[in-house]
Amino acid sequence: MIGAVQKDAALLQDIRKARRDAGSFQLWWLGQSGFLVHYNGSYFLFDPYLSDSLTKKYDGTTKPHVRISERVIDPARLDMISCITSSHNHTDHLDAETLLPISTANPGCVLLLPEANLEFARARLLGPSLTYAGLNETTPWSHPPWTVHGITAAHNEIVRNELGQSAYLGFVLKFGPFSIYHSGDTVWHDELVSQLGRHQVDVALVPINGNDPARGVAGNLNVHEAACLSKAIGAKLAVPHHFQMFAFNTADPADFVTACESVRQPHRVLGLGEKLEVTA
Ligand SMILES: [Zn+2]
Repeated sequence: MIGAVQKDAALLQDIRKARRDAGSFQLWWLGQSGFLVHYNGSYFLFDPYLSDSLTKKYDGTTKPHVRISERVIDPARLDMISCITSSHNHTDHLDAETLLPISTANPGCVLLLPEANLEFARARLLGPSLTYAGLNETTPWSHPPWTVHGITAAHNEIVRNELGQSAYLGFVLKFGPFSIYHSGDTVWHDELVSQLGRHQVDVALVPINGNDPARGVAGNLNVHEAACLSKAIGAKLAVPHHFQMFAFNTADPADFVTACESVRQPHRVLGLGEKLEVTA
């Protein structure tokens, strides 16, 4: 079992005592694609998966989801959140066992997700206090200090409903002088670099587990593509995600480091629960 750098009470204390000023922000990797961002007293949560629901769901099947890292925190203890994202409907990005305790702990919290998925999410999350907000690629969504731009994602294809709304999104989160790109789950596609080129990205959060349907691994960037995308969009720092959760679907972050070094892309691999602090 891969251990956390910090977890539970220690992680919570680190989150609560984060420095409040307009010239810096902090983010913590919570495992899989989950990141908590703090900026000047406000907290934003990307795609949390903080339960064992997939391990339970696939237990005894031909697709066991054997967990290889420890959970960093009970989602019920995250009571400081104003906004959460769900980039798409897969359970590691839209998990009732994670989102319902968070919604109870944060009355009025906003769940931001592709507008194509609103109905699906409401049916899955029959819980209290969540406010749903739909996002698309054309109209940014704002909830101060946060502004979020939807970025088309292909997992493995770009999928649109009859209204042309994409079921898979990534996000550019803007606040103060900063921008973070969170990929959601995506392979490389034609629109990715041009859409992201409109934004000055400080930190790119990119998946590295790759795309191998034969192993049941649905489409994501591999270590080389993640490094090259970060380089192509001029990200000041690349941080990998979507690894070390399930035995059948992971990647070695050391290979991401090698890939980044080969294209001279600044990078940082976070451990579970570890904090990254960025100053303007
Ligand atoms: Zn995923």
